Amino acid sequence: MTDYQSSPSTVCPLCAVGCRLTPGEEHRARGVVGPANPNGRLCRKGVEAYRVGDADDDRLTEPLVRRADDLEAVSWNAAYECVVDGLAGIQATHGPDALAFLGAPHCTNEENYLLQKLARTLGTNKVDNRARLCHVSSTRALSEQVGWPATTSSLTELEESDVILVAGANPAERQPIAFNSFVRPAVINGATLVHVDPVGNRTTRLAEYHVAPRPGMDALVFDLLSATVIAEHNRDREPKGVDHEFIDDRTRGYDSFVASIAELDRTHAVSTAGVDEATIEQVVDCLTDADRVAALVGTGTEGDRGDPNAAEALVNLLLVTGNLGRRGAGLYVLRGLVNEQGSTDAGCVPDRLPGHQPVTDTEARSRVASEWGVEPPSDPGKTASELLAAFGDDVRGAVVVGENPAISKRESDWIRRRLNALDLLVVLDIYPSKTTRHADVVFPVVAGVEKEGTFTNLDRRIQRSRPTRAPPETARSDFAVLCELGNRLFEDRDYFDYSAVGEVFDELTDVAPTHSGLSYAALGPEGCQWPVDSDGVLYGESFDTPDGLASFGNPQYKFEPENGVVDPAVDGGLRLVTGGRAGEFEVDHSVSTQRLRMHPTDASDRGIEPGAAIVVSSGQTTVETTVETTDRIRQGTVYLSAEVADPFLRCETSTVAVKPTSEPTEGSN
Ligand code: SF4
Repeated sequence: MTDYQSSPSTVCPLCAVGCRLTPGEEHRARGVVGPANPNGRLCRKGVEAYRVGDADDDRLTEPLVRRADDLEAVSWNAAYECVVDGLAGIQATHGPDALAFLGAPHCTNEENYLLQKLARTLGTNKVDNRARLCHVSSTRALSEQVGWPATTSSLTELEESDVILVAGANPAERQPIAFNSFVRPAVINGATLVHVDPVGNRTTRLAEYHVAPRPGMDALVFDLLSATVIAEHNRDREPKGVDHEFIDDRTRGYDSFVASIAELDRTHAVSTAGVDEATIEQVVDCLTDADRVAALVGTGTEGDRGDPNAAEALVNLLLVTGNLGRRGAGLYVLRGLVNEQGSTDAGCVPDRLPGHQPVTDTEARSRVASEWGVEPPSDPGKTASELLAAFGDDVRGAVVVGENPAISKRESDWIRRRLNALDLLVVLDIYPSKTTRHADVVFPVVAGVEKEGTFTNLDRRIQRSRPTRAPPETARSDFAVLCELGNRLFEDRDYFDYSAVGEVFDELTDVAPTHSGLSYAALGPEGCQWPVDSDGVLYGESFDTPDGLASFGNPQYKFEPENGVVDPAVDGGLRLVTGGRAGEFEVDHSVSTQRLRMHPTDASDRGIEPGAAIVVSSGQTTVETTVETTDRIRQGTVYLSAEVADPFLRCETSTVAVKPTSEPTEGSN
């Protein structure tokens, strides 16, 4: 273990926990004590952080430009000229909205900021990154009900929680250092862990209560908990559970929420959700006895578009019990990729400027214009999946930074046609990929452990990343490439005239109210959470809503005939539940050696033998793998690691079909 104050260290680029590390022996990483890994430990993936972009790997080392059918090595100047001519030509011929810009949740805040600034100074809001698709329900509920799409408290405060409710997540495997540094000690010291998840996993082992609803029924479980807490409170001679003082002072919409939730038939709800009534009663007792409840939510609660929003139901439960805006309480979004939070904070999304300010907000645009010297456009752009579908039609040119859409979206022929239909595809990456095969210009850039900049972890902590390994001599930083492109595109302006990464961060703090008061130079070894004066807890005094009050949403589940007991297996579809270990490296999703877990009855109903090769599909998205049958998974549900399930998560679906393949795939039994 190394002390971070005496040894150069960087942020682990493999997940959103934000552990600090430094090079160790034999290309392995060594943990360095940091705010997210206070014991200086790394998980087994983090130990391999230096594997990404290792010198022995097949790194991109020279700029490439397409000549006829082949990518040929060219000088940096020639590559820049090609891109600038191409982007300027498309802008002049088709207008700025014919350009698209895709950032990434594993790029730094500064890289995502520069990319969205490049898009907006050119005149388009067509900029996005796939972090916006992760935890979409949680972030939407937080934005609409309390303010910002971000974790409301700090990991360190979990030691003050009486109840920790983990929903749709497996942090014991997915965020192991956070789990072992903050959740496990809290439980050892007396906190009660409640795990809500259709599938038992490593997190369940530490839980006192496991609520295992049918997939897609999380919202109903949280509505049921709210309804029962309110009912018990009204019946009890010593009322507890419902925090009326908090509700009266800090929320709106409670009366109508109570009126609606009173219609919930709790017996019907228990049977529809498929949960154990006694367990629900015990969990309600825990919630009503607790002074502080923290809820940790993962992607497992994200349903299909149009499904009840489990996160909204969970926020309602936290509001009923007065568990927002206080230490040891709140909603934690268990983000996966290293800069999922920061990439959207930096404005790399089509409808928000840096700091989550709507592009439609005149005052926000003026604030940005006063720094940039040019006002961003006011019409929201398109999402990444909409942009991809428009490649070759409305969109003629695209700049892709650190992303590989060719392996991660829909089926390969469709992707190929879309990428090839562009007049200009520019890719910044460290490896050749399926996307670079279709590129017109490729820039070789540096890997995560070679970068300078900042990352924002899952509890809003911004930490500096420092180069801890030399990149290939011929590679350049994304910062350098984006600045050079900006300077060449706006040669008579100083929009991109930065001499250091820190200047970009400081500009971000000027345009984003969330980051106001921070500065690159003042980010010490522990980093800093945004907003600067929050002391780790958001909404201590008021919520970030127009009237400062949090709003109750509606109960999420209604007992209409079509919402009776839902068995996703009825029409042949299966509910996809995902999870996985921290920081898996990018995988080719088209064929995976990681198995799909399935109930034996579901497998035999489909003529699938244990170990057989199968195709998992939803619409145009398919993944090939093999089956592991187990009765530890509920019928009607299948489990796939999040990394392999990524294409399904990206097209916002959680219902899949599973069929045997006609030919066994490599590696099947
Ligand atoms: Fe920490 Fe995540 Fe890296 Fe593991 S992968 S060392 S949990 S940041």
